[in-house]
Amino acid sequence: MARYRESVCRLCRREGMKLFLKGDRCFTNKCAIERRNFPPGQHGKRRSKILGYGIQLREKQKLKRFYGVLEGQFRLTFEAAERMRGVTGENLLSLLERRLDNVVHRLGFSGSRAQARQLVRHGHVRVNGKKVNIPSYVVGAGAVVSVKEKSKTNPLIAGAVETAKGRGIPAWLELNASEFQGKVVTLPKREDVALQVNEKLIVELYSK
Ligand code: SF4
Repeated sequence: MARYRESVCRLCRREGMKLFLKGDRCFTNKCAIERRNFPPGQHGKRRSKILGYGIQLREKQKLKRFYGVLEGQFRLTFEAAERMRGVTGENLLSLLERRLDNVVHRLGFSGSRAQARQLVRHGHVRVNGKKVNIPSYVVGAGAVVSVKEKSKTNPLIAGAVETAKGRGIPAWLELNASEFQGKVVTLPKREDVALQVNEKLIVELYSK
């Protein structure tokens, strides 16, 4: 499977904002955005003005990178959002937010989305009591996401739960930290998406 293998901090620097791709480090002053908030590369400091298509492209890249989704899968998610009732941009955000890897991360079972993806792939996660090892699996309202019984003592997961305690979880999720279990209480709304993004520009980009 295709995978991004370069430094993820470069992605944040390219977008000019924190995308929180590295877990705890993102909350410290070691964060590359705190130290070098200009695009990577030889000409990075010469920030040129972007217009029209460039702005739409940046919005799409930002959203894709925040959720750790590659182009092909992002396009498929967009097409699924188009087929749904309602506003396409908001549907797209809802589908991305409800990805199993994102839910695992939002519940605090992992330090980053990349780590959450690995936990799912390695079979540490259950949805309604059944093993699901597909990170792009979209959870619905009422779904119960939990950590496999044996994995509750995994230091990586236990450490992430402890660290995430102070950060809180979004209103559309409910967490039972002692049971390593969370529930999707309701579908996420536009305001539940933590990232500052203009999804309308992404819809315009794909509608060309
Ligand atoms: Fe982005 Fe985190 Fe790296 Fe900061 S530390 S640049 S937020 S990935």
